[in-house]
Amino acid sequence: MFSLTPEKFKETNGYVIDGVWYPRVTSIVGIKSKPALYYFYAEMKNFKQGEDVKKQSAEEGTLLHETVESILLGKETEIDSSIRPAVEAFIKFKDEKNIQADAEWVEKRVVNYDERYAGTIDALALIDGKFGVLDIKTSQAIYRDYNLQTSAYMEPLQRQLSKLSTRWIIRIDQNQKCLKCGAILRTKGGREKIKTGNGSASCSHEWGPVQGEVELKEFPYYEDDYSAFLGAKKLWEWENDYLLKQVGYF
Ligand SMILES: [Zn+2]
Repeated sequence: MFSLTPEKFKETNGYVIDGVWYPRVTSIVGIKSKPALYYFYAEMKNFKQGEDVKKQSAEEGTLLHETVESILLGKETEIDSSIRPAVEAFIKFKDEKNIQADAEWVEKRVVNYDERYAGTIDALALIDGKFGVLDIKTSQAIYRDYNLQTSAYMEPLQRQLSKLSTRWIIRIDQNQKCLKCGAILRTKGGREKIKTGNGSASCSHEWGPVQGEVELKEFPYYEDDYSAFLGAKKLWEWENDYLLKQVGYF
């Protein structure tokens, strides 16, 4: 669809580790179709608007992501006012749950030399007495697709760290609730999206303050996700066969 130079392909789809190029987990997982994206684009005026919303939304997500990681590292962190409710909800949640991140393992590169791929984990953490991979998401829900990504980290990490036993997704977001009907307003990427509840069709909404929201979900069994990830990797390699030959991967 889009033609890339081999150099650009290498840069955007992988990491060079000790002189060897490895495809990155997020690029591989990207081969899976995301039907929800069609609905998203269908709601836009045109393709360009969809791209703009996606870009701005990604930037907002990155800011929240970086702020949360900095807090996990115990650093003095400046919190941008645009994400303050979400960050404060996260801090409260972290303190209540006593979530502890291993500073050495925040934004750390993980390589599977046998299957030839690499990725970057958000954190390794201790939660409820268990040690596992903690992945941070800033989406409106926890999607099953995330499990493909984290399974790819679990496999090589489990061989390296015998105490590692599980994985979690922590979702951090913020929204406003209608004081009259309970509908939810989420502003992301410059776009306002309203999720209505029962009997709210005729409500002239009155939005309350922006409130942070945190959701933590554990996914201990990763074997099935991992075989699906390897299947996705096969398909990704097939799709990119031409460029992968050019960059010397095949
Ligand atoms: Zn309402």
